Order: sequence, then structure tokens, then C-alpha cells
Amino acid sequence: MAATILIVEDEFAVARGIQYALQQEGYEVTVARSGEEGLDFATHQAPDLVVLDVRLPGMDGFEVLRRLRATGSKAPVLVLTARDDEVDKVIGLELGADDYLTKPFGLRELMSRIKALLRRAYGDLADAAGGRVIRHLDLLIDLERRRVQRGQRRIALTATEFEILRHLASRPGRVYSRRELLELLRDYEALDQDEKTINVHVSHLREKIEDDPSLPVFVLTIRGAGYAFAER
Ligand code: CA
Repeated sequence: MAATILIVEDEFAVARGIQYALQQEGYEVTVARSGEEGLDFATHQAPDLVVLDVRLPGMDGFEVLRRLRATGSKAPVLVLTARDDEVDKVIGLELGADDYLTKPFGLRELMSRIKALLRRAYGDLADAAGGRVIRHLDLLIDLERRRVQRGQRRIALTATEFEILRHLASRPGRVYSRRELLELLRDYEALDQDEKTINVHVSHLREKIEDDPSLPVFVLTIRGAGYAFAER
């Protein structure tokens, strides 16, 4: 799955140019034309990276960034500035910008900065665009390399935990019963065929990937039915 990028910029030509260049590289791109719209999208859709112009009608880029970080978002943000005093502000205020570029800039320069930010934030999984990588918020599941990360943090799962996560995350929203999961795992490992076995593995999986295992945001319990991976 390609990385998703949000561009917050009111100048049509600038936004369009960046959008086109990013789409050529295979990224999924959304453009927001005001600070309010950008903040709303960034908060609810959790893009992998945000390109944020400072000068926007209404809420400016600094305020968008401040509020975005206040929600706990750790998505890399590249700020577009127009003047030196804005650069000073980006650096001086420590608002949580990851990089900045001063207008006018070349698209090639922007592209290399974006790739560097994605690599820094998501490690080598960021290069797997189009490969079998599942992302949800900051959780990354590399199906081919059987690797799991939260942001930059690698998470070690047992083979059974990985298989459960792989099945669930491959079809977000699809409910799997405990019986069904046992069937799917049967060929993989000789598990105790008691359905409660699945509960134990899911609980260990949650301990490792969820911030609060009692309030899971990735592997959800569907009462009376089983488990499902959260839909984006
Ligand atoms: Ca602008």
C-alpha cells in the first residue's frame, strides 16, 4: 500500500504541482486548501506525512502544526515557508516540524526531502510502496518480511501472533470467529484446539502492539462473534 500524503496549501498552482509530482511517484495524495480542512483530515485520516504551508487563510500553518501535535500525531511534517522570519519561527518555536523548505523550491528537492522523512519515520518499510505492507495509523505490517513496527519501533511477535495479525489485518473490518482463526492457523502450528487458545494469543498480541491492551485500536473484539482488525 502506497504511503498517503496530505498537502495543506491554498495556492492552487503550488498544491497542484506538488500533488502531481507525488502521484507520479506512486503516493496517494490529498490536498486541503485551508488550515482547518488540513487539520481535520490529518486528525481523522492519519496520513503518513504532511506537507504544510505556513501561509494559509484563517488558521495558519504554525497553528495547524501546534494543534496536530497536541492530538498526539507523530506523522512527519514538512513545512513550506516563504520568508526567513518564518524559518526562524519554525526552528525557534519547536512546534514539532520535521523539516522545512523555503519557497521557491524545486520539486526534485521536495521529493528527496519527503522520501528521507518517510524513511526516517518508518524505516526501510517506507520503500516498500506497492509491496505487501499494511499500514494503520503508525502500525506497519510487512507481510513479505514478516515484520511489524509501531513508528520506528520494531515489535517481535511469535509466529502464531503474526499469523493472527496477518489474517485480521489483510481484511480490515472482516470479523473472524475464534473457530475460524484456529482453522486458519492449524496448518501453521499445532495449536491446542480449544477456542480459548485464540484469546490467549490475541491478548499477547495486544500487549505488544496496542498502547492500552484493554482499549485496543488495532485488534478489536466483536462481542459474541470474534475479532476484527480496525477499518481505516
Ligand atoms: Ca499559501
